Amino acid sequence: MQDHRKLGRELELFGSDPLIGAGLPYWLPDGAVVRHALEEYLREVERHAGYQHVYSPVLGKRELYEISGHWSHYREHMFPPMNLGDEQVVLRPSLCPHHALIYRSQARSYRELPLRIAELGGMYRSELSGVLGGLTRVRSIQLNDAHIFCTIDQVAAEASAALALIRAAYRDLGIQPVGYRLSLPAQQGEYVGEPAMWRRAAELLTGVLDDAGVDYRAEAGEAAFYGPKIDVQIADHAGRESTLSTIQVDFHQPAQFDLHYVGSDGAQHRPVMVHRSIIGSMERAMAQLIEIHGGAFPAWLAPTQLAVLPVSDAEVPAAQDCVRQGIAAGLRARLVAPSQGSLGARIRADRRVPYQAVIGEREVAGRQVALRLRNGHRPAALPVTEAVAGIRANVVARSVDLWAATDRE
Ligand SMILES: [Zn+2]
Repeated sequence: MQDHRKLGRELELFGSDPLIGAGLPYWLPDGAVVRHALEEYLREVERHAGYQHVYSPVLGKRELYEISGHWSHYREHMFPPMNLGDEQVVLRPSLCPHHALIYRSQARSYRELPLRIAELGGMYRSELSGVLGGLTRVRSIQLNDAHIFCTIDQVAAEASAALALIRAAYRDLGIQPVGYRLSLPAQQGEYVGEPAMWRRAAELLTGVLDDAGVDYRAEAGEAAFYGPKIDVQIADHAGRESTLSTIQVDFHQPAQFDLHYVGSDGAQHRPVMVHRSIIGSMERAMAQLIEIHGGAFPAWLAPTQLAVLPVSDAEVPAAQDCVRQGIAAGLRARLVAPSQGSLGARIRADRRVPYQAVIGEREVAGRQVALRLRNGHRPAALPVTEAVAGIRANVVARSVDLWAATDRE
């Protein structure tokens, strides 16, 4: 595995500038394309799983985080408050309080539960500048977040479904977790809530891991201040472990924000909040994807999916037509003209592109292309329309195998 910082520069995926500040990277066009594809993927799988998407602001009044508990338990990771007239606002350290207020914005019935609220939203962490670099330790984070408001009896099924979404996403993205962790509180520490609630939450999460049949280790001292969690761990190029995905059971914030629903008995009840993230932050997920794939992303994520290479200037019009057909089919296709070097040099330069279509004299005559797949596979020359349809089928299927969907047809 290569360091994502080096590859990120080399492949022009992201960058930074001291004038913007440490830990505040920007995403260049090719990196932004990958991120956009990831975001679309997340919204699609979440929509299918019954989540509703919202937007909420990245700022909130200091009082909001005093109520949630962040102000007293998490302040060293938060940016200092900004004075605004006679009140103070802070850059949010998490999305939970906003989502709790969205839940509270109307009366809720048990019939609406589980209510799954999702957002790809910004949050901020005041990391020390010494540990910053690349996309893994950043001060500005785009989180793939969701909160499920449900009854206690629904927690296990909701947490299990969230774990299934995480595992499916890892398959689609080619990510291998290094382990699952049941993160429990330390013997001593600053936690909120009753010991009985913590035990109940830990039991529920243990059941979820046991039912999924995954190996996991329990670790004291890794819980959130408001509850235990399941963490899915990944490793970077240097073998450093970090958490990418998480599922948390929280009895505390629903009580702090005085959340209710009307039960089938007509009485008021308190919901439980399940916090979950399928692939964590866009930044950390991108760093992991760059490293594990060496910049050769799965076809559905690749910045360029189809590079069209005319052998000489005579084939440029046919190649342009192939690019147009690719784009019309929804592919990210581009021309790599003879002016950019010999055919061999162009093939090498674009070796991370999943599909290359070479067009020479013979292909022009037959309105065909000679496909070269990144994995070395070379299907027989195909009509342009068939080649584009075959690539599209694999991209739409989010196939890890570059030509699998086509073979099945
Ligand atoms: Zn949360």
